[in-house]
Amino acid sequence: MPPRFSVVAPVYNEEELVQAFYQRVRDVMEGLGEPWELVLINDGCHDRSPALMDEIHEQDPEHVVVIHFSRNFGHQLAITAGMDYARGDAVVVIDSDLQDPPEVIPDLIAKWREGYEVVYAVRSEREGETWFKLFTADLFYRLIQSLTAVQIPMEAGDFRLVDRGALEALKRMREQHRFVRAMVSWVGFRQIGVPYKRFARTAGESKYPFRKMFKLALDAITGFSMFPLKLALWGGAIATALGGLLALGLLILRLSGQTPLAGQGLTAGLVLFLGGAQLLSVGILGEYVGRIYDEVRRRPLYLVREVRGGAVDETTQEL
Ligand code: UDP
Ligand code: MG
Repeated sequence: MPPRFSVVAPVYNEEELVQAFYQRVRDVMEGLGEPWELVLINDGCHDRSPALMDEIHEQDPEHVVVIHFSRNFGHQLAITAGMDYARGDAVVVIDSDLQDPPEVIPDLIAKWREGYEVVYAVRSEREGETWFKLFTADLFYRLIQSLTAVQIPMEAGDFRLVDRGALEALKRMREQHRFVRAMVSWVGFRQIGVPYKRFARTAGESKYPFRKMFKLALDAITGFSMFPLKLALWGGAIATALGGLLALGLLILRLSGQTPLAGQGLTAGLVLFLGGAQLLSVGILGEYVGRIYDEVRRRPLYLVREVRGGAVDETTQEL
């Protein structure tokens, strides 16, 4: 019988947590009394997680599907693969580090039964995060809200339920640089939030250092906004207008017989300012051009080394 619910969880070096995660998901899902599956994605782990994941599959082949990536492709691509492989009518994406409690899944499913196609979990409380993480995350959400047309709910991560209909729409978006939660907002359908408390990690460490957060922010902005490109346009227009006024002023001063403001300092300042502004604009353009290049190459989003379990075959399957 095909599963009614799929739980999709990306795993990157979570050897201390993956078994406990499976146990808690199993307890919650068994309580629902309908067929379910857990799709675990090994995002190129370097620790014992892959072996543990295979073990979990051996223990419970009926419910557990394991997808091994050929290398680390990142969180956003791992959840993309999970959603591609998920077979349920409702698919829940959740972190495997137990920061998102699996016990919230029935709440998401209850809203889905009321007819909502997307139910996102909203962090009403966050435990054990550094002020720096909270501050940058807050800044990040505000920036995305003001720069992009899609409204992604504040304080909603990737922990959410997506109905089969909305999921099929989402699966048609094959862009390379992905910010999945904004993509889910973009597809529309009936969406609603459910509050939950996000816990601190009990083991392992965050795999989202500032560098990765920054990349995610860039992907979000370039993926959903042309604002930075317009910035160059408007900045250029203003600089041109100011330059014209300056030239006019100098001409008038000259004609009225006065020595206009002069000095190399001013010239050097202007040259540096304009040179900097131009390089910045070229840089912004470069970000977009680079992304166009990535799109036109049409490389696969991710590569799978092996799948265990699932629809194709109950045994090991090489791709
Ligand atoms: N993760 C992943 N690939 C990566 C980084 C993270 O699959 O390259 C997984 C990780 O195992 C976890 C989830 O994505 O289940 C969220 O990552 P993390 O907990 O490090 O992020 P944070 O909660 O600190 O934002
Ligand atoms: Mg985490």
